[in-house]
Amino acid sequence: MVLIRQLLIASALALFFFSGPVMAAQIEVLWLGHATTRITSVNGKVIVIDPFLKKNPKTPLKYKDLKALGKVDLILVTHGHNDHIRDLGELAQLSGATVVGVWELIRNLGALGVIDASKSIAMNKGGTVAPLGRGIKIHMVPAEHSSSAGLRTLGLYNPESGGPIDIEGGAAVGYVIELENGFKIYHSGDTHVFGDMALIHKFYAPDLALVCIGGHFTMDPERAAYAVRELIKPKSVIPIHYGTIPVINRTPAEFKAALGDAPIEVLDVKPGQATRF
Ligand SMILES: [Zn+2]
Repeated sequence: MVLIRQLLIASALALFFFSGPVMAAQIEVLWLGHATTRITSVNGKVIVIDPFLKKNPKTPLKYKDLKALGKVDLILVTHGHNDHIRDLGELAQLSGATVVGVWELIRNLGALGVIDASKSIAMNKGGTVAPLGRGIKIHMVPAEHSSSAGLRTLGLYNPESGGPIDIEGGAAVGYVIELENGFKIYHSGDTHVFGDMALIHKFYAPDLALVCIGGHFTMDPERAAYAVRELIKPKSVIPIHYGTIPVINRTPAEFKAALGDAPIEVLDVKPGQATRF
């Protein structure tokens, strides 16, 4: 009897250990509308990019409550525009996550008390940081866009003072997130197509790219298709930054049409629909 029980325990343990890593060895990418994205790594580290949820018309109702994001270990911001950092202060405070962004934006947000300067990393294009341990690398890459942060959005605008309505945001950027198992995710931030996207392919060869397709402020579907087909060359693409407001009303269908028969998988996910790799 004892032997049988030991055998049962041993096989249960084996099942646990063998099934555990298989379950855990998946990356989850959860796009939440506009540029807001939550990435969960194979070891369960959680990275949120450009938190804009509460007033984002595309964010599923559930995620209007920032607590629904669960634990967050790291927040990356691509630039200071309100559709990218609107919920940054609250999420950073709620989660205690480290905030990474470009030098001027992070320093100014820290000085204004929007984020805790001691829990932030101010860096610049070309830099790599590993605040989650050496297994996960965060590479800051260029974007072709502008950046500033609106004091009104941050609740700091004083019309009496006659001061500026925007603070300096430095350069707009994108990120390549290199996870523990080598899987690489490129998040374009807001950008036009630029020739040095070829270097993002050369240096990092991203497996998955989240690219803006909405037009007006960023690449439209035709330019985004050129960018991924000719320059970035990822295996899969999730189109983002479209449909949030009428002026960026281009569609993933137009993006797919523009891509033609390029050997790139388009994951036309709905906000709140998780993708696993
Ligand atoms: Zn934007």
